[in-house]
Amino acid sequence: MRQYKQLLLANKAWAAEIIEESADFFQRQLVGQNPEFLWIGCSDSRVGPEQMTMTPPGNMFIHRNIANLVKDDDTNLMSVLQYAVDVLGVRHIIICGHYACGGIRATLDGGTTGPVDDWLSTARCVLHDHADEIDAQPDREQKVNRLVEVNVRDQLVRLARTKTIQGRSRVGKKCCSTAGSTTSATG
Ligand SMILES: [Zn+2]
Repeated sequence: MRQYKQLLLANKAWAAEIIEESADFFQRQLVGQNPEFLWIGCSDSRVGPEQMTMTPPGNMFIHRNIANLVKDDDTNLMSVLQYAVDVLGVRHIIICGHYACGGIRATLDGGTTGPVDDWLSTARCVLHDHADEIDAQPDREQKVNRLVEVNVRDQLVRLARTKTIQGRSRVGKKCCSTAGSTTSATG
């Protein structure tokens, strides 16, 4: 069977299982969403946020990109952030990196081209700013993983400088909390 057909069958099985557990589940979903969290994570297929955190539908607004980067000229992320904070009123924003991140490894290795190379310019800034610390790591894997960690920290700083978060502080509204974390890519 083609793999995409398996996805459709799995979706039907999932829906049937949900209804068996809670008959009005989908009716309740129609009312709207009220997520507690905005998750900014990596697009890597091994680190699905809801799966990793056992979060049910409706509780997490999600944005993912290669190497979980925050760029204030990224209309996609900036609109997700604005909507999550100003409209949905999320209470927490999480930036989650993960060890063995391919985007971070490519930042260290170089040799990227096209849009990916443009995209990773922000990660290269992080590498530049922490070059001594990264160089001091004893091997390649630890260099990658340390850059993963400092990247999360630097993206939190960039997040705090965005118009949405700054505006929230300026008008004196209670600002949602932000947190950074790093997960193991393969559990
Ligand atoms: Zn990654």
